[in-house]
Amino acid sequence: MKQIWKEVCFAALMGLVVPAVLLSAAVHFTIPDPPEELPQLTTAPAQPQQEPVRIRVLTESSLVDEMDLEEYLVGVILAEMPASFEEEAQKAQAVVARTFTLRTGQGSKHPQAAVCMDSGCCQAYISPEKYLAAGGTEEGIEKMRSAVEATVGQVLTYGGELIEATYFSCSGGSTEDAVAVWGTDVPYLRAVDSPGEEGAAHYTDTLSFSAEAFASALGLDLTGPTKTWFGDVTYTAGGGVDTAVIGGVNFRGTELRKALGLRSTAFTVTAGEDAVTITTRGYGHRVGMSQYGADAMALAGSSYEQILAHYYQGAVLESRNN
Ligand SMILES: [Zn+2]
Repeated sequence: MKQIWKEVCFAALMGLVVPAVLLSAAVHFTIPDPPEELPQLTTAPAQPQQEPVRIRVLTESSLVDEMDLEEYLVGVILAEMPASFEEEAQKAQAVVARTFTLRTGQGSKHPQAAVCMDSGCCQAYISPEKYLAAGGTEEGIEKMRSAVEATVGQVLTYGGELIEATYFSCSGGSTEDAVAVWGTDVPYLRAVDSPGEEGAAHYTDTLSFSAEAFASALGLDLTGPTKTWFGDVTYTAGGGVDTAVIGGVNFRGTELRKALGLRSTAFTVTAGEDAVTITTRGYGHRVGMSQYGADAMALAGSSYEQILAHYYQGAVLESRNN
């Protein structure tokens, strides 16, 4: 409660209105029921299965590996999602990773390969052998393989095209509009509620800066009490900071996230005596599917089709093999 009191005080001092969701997020630790009426995902008729799809993947050592797509996806899910997650969440992750891989491969991100193994660029990947060597279990591999096999060839499309199937770890309660993060509106990447993520490791995080370090990180030369540095704040549809005036300079939330190394753009600021404390909600860009949100939905009884329909509204689940 102390932290919340500070935030309220700071908001009052700054003349800001902190959305109720920001204040309530830290104190309600209930797992809500899934929405009563989940959006329905259109399912296109299955097409005949073709030959296994082969893809080229750029490895961590900058070599190009040619792999079977479905086998590659097992390694992606092993690296991207805990084996302890629910089966339906893992199936949703398999469809999303497959769509992401094929869509990225259509572009020119990596001229020599469809995707790379850098999670900051494309998707993480770990081979089953390395997964076992790192302490993973055969059971975990079998779970992920089952999720891939249960959804083999399935992808998400919109207007007949593969979607930009972005995903991330934890939303902190709401996902984000694509336009708020990348500046381009994408009809199926809009902010949606993502309840039940409170158990995620980075549901909230707190980062403290000395006043000097904070100003320096933003390239500002600021003096006087820290609470006088902060001006107007505007918020995105997903509850992130859209813009914030600091030291008279208007920053985008995405700029602040990068400059300060924040886990997300959804944050509140507490201006202390000679320090600035930032509390973030969620982890990642928060656009598309929340992995912890998908797990919460699966735990509450949603199928992978319902999970995908929730996070990519208007997308179509198709079975294709090219
Ligand atoms: Zn890449």
